[in-house]
Amino acid sequence: MLIAHDTNGLPVEAARDLPAGAFSCPACDGSMLLKRGQVKVPHFAHMPGTECWSEAESVSHLRSKNLLAEKFRQLGYDVQLEETYRDQGRRVDVAVTIPAWDRGSRVAVEVQDSAIDVETMKARTRIDRSLGFIGTLWVFTDKRAKVLLDVTGADIEVRIPNEMLWVDHRYRQGVFVLDLDAAAVWNIELGPPHVRISEWYDGDGYGQSSAYVPRTIRCPIRHAADFTLTSTPGRYPNEWAVVFARRRL
Ligand SMILES: [Zn+2]
Repeated sequence: MLIAHDTNGLPVEAARDLPAGAFSCPACDGSMLLKRGQVKVPHFAHMPGTECWSEAESVSHLRSKNLLAEKFRQLGYDVQLEETYRDQGRRVDVAVTIPAWDRGSRVAVEVQDSAIDVETMKARTRIDRSLGFIGTLWVFTDKRAKVLLDVTGADIEVRIPNEMLWVDHRYRQGVFVLDLDAAAVWNIELGPPHVRISEWYDGDGYGQSSAYVPRTIRCPIRHAADFTLTSTPGRYPNEWAVVFARRRL
């Protein structure tokens, strides 16, 4: 984790040059060790054997959150990493306050480094709304969405995981993917498959006559985006989608 509480109960960010001290977990109050990480990412870790709902994360997840925080701060946004809500069992990866928006609107940015089921995403999105966030922005790491970054032509068909299809459908925004090494973010448009319907059947003849096209097969089209957040009307009334602005050509 990137955040622990100090002895005054205030959140502190893990850093190589952070003075030694006593740190506790914002979720369970358990003692935490600062891992300064000469090679890896500085982070806090529970003592061995601790059980906590706020789980340890991969290096790429931690790096992704740090990259987002750095970019958002450069844009003048107020950033709180790993904002923990104990009653809801929710840890918002990157909580962003945008001063220029209406009364300082808050956005929950959620980094996905591994598979997640759609019901969990829906539940988190609902919780975020109840906590006063105007929207939840889902970002996939380049580890999770590697295939989408590797695609270079619009005629290549890729099977898209459910959670990415859901984000695209609900927010009409495509999929956002962080490119850690390039410190960049991409907006992947999920184009329709270039498929001749007659080709789509399996050994049981399934779908051949009913014009079955698997909706999980799409043609990703990559657009450069930047870290500036912008809002657009979502699919449902009174709901806003918060997205990374697509870079103007
Ligand atoms: Zn804990």
